[in-house]
Amino acid sequence: MPDRGGGGRGGDGRGGGGRGDTGGGDTLRVVELAGGVGGAKLGHGLQALLGERLTIIVNTGDDLARHGLEVWPDHDTVMYTLAGLDNRDWGWGVAGETFAASEMLARYGEETWFRLGDRDLATHIVRTRRLREGARPTVVARDLQRSLGVAATILPMADEPVRTQVLTDDGWLDFQTWFVGRHQEPEVRDLRFDGLDAARPTPEVIAALAASDAIVVAPSNPFVSVGPILGVPGMRDAIDAARARGVTVAAVSPIVGGKAIKGPADRMLASLGGEASALGVARRYRDWIDLFVIDVVDAALAPEVQALGFSTLVTDTLMVDDATRARLARAILDALAE
Ligand code: GDP
Repeated sequence: MPDRGGGGRGGDGRGGGGRGDTGGGDTLRVVELAGGVGGAKLGHGLQALLGERLTIIVNTGDDLARHGLEVWPDHDTVMYTLAGLDNRDWGWGVAGETFAASEMLARYGEETWFRLGDRDLATHIVRTRRLREGARPTVVARDLQRSLGVAATILPMADEPVRTQVLTDDGWLDFQTWFVGRHQEPEVRDLRFDGLDAARPTPEVIAALAASDAIVVAPSNPFVSVGPILGVPGMRDAIDAARARGVTVAAVSPIVGGKAIKGPADRMLASLGGEASALGVARRYRDWIDLFVIDVVDAALAPEVQALGFSTLVTDTLMVDDATRARLARAILDALAE
């Protein structure tokens, strides 16, 4: 999920771009697996080319309750970005956001380390009311997206709650306490996904995978974004069934030149998974993907990635504006259509 502890970090500059030359991949029905920021940026590029042929399955392990409201950081980052409402100066939240409600909450003595903007709060209020009335999370998500004019479909990975927990030297912390409250500082010793065993892919998720022509794993955190999605019992079977039909699964490395563009993925690879590099990510995905997308700065790793049994696409994977988001999406769709 996005970092909301600080604000003011360098984000995307608004760029030109948009629709590139149409290629064969534009007619594909694509399912993207996504966390927050990396998933949202690639999703925005894919949506520019695919429109409603794009379905995004988002991680729900970062979801939390704040001030009695249900907050879904990854879903909302993707939704705001695909609606063109994302705050590119901060890299999280809504453009033009203000924090008057947060200041008032602080006066009442509420903890406000997880900052919720005024516009963002409206999303959580509507969502919480709908959920309390008994609506399914997937239905609520779709209605919010439609209200904001999102062309693609964004689906929670499951309707059952899943809550990511992080083991540090200070014990188990829930994900947002570690990520935002503790600024991702304590080293991650282990991860646990409470509720995952009881979760199931929703009918909408199963249908999207069954109808897909291609699956794209966003440059998202392999441990706390892609990990929970893949860990939902039944998800891997649905992906394997798609592959058995000839569907290609492509994954974009979130690690470029040995570093995460943002967030703790590189440190997690080092502390949990071995090697902080695109190759380290490729190794984690070795059983279930076909095509691995690495950045041009990592071109030298291509032979080792291919030795894992994948094809590789070496291209510029940095998404800094609309044009580079669409360019990466176009390169992936072209490779998938080959
Ligand atoms: P979070 O839930 O907000 O942390 O977002 P994700 O899990 O979707 O994405 C986090 C990952 O995205 C980090 O590991 C970043 O390195 C990666 N990332 C962010 N922007 C880019 C980009 O422009 N290109 C690539 N290749 N990776 C990116």
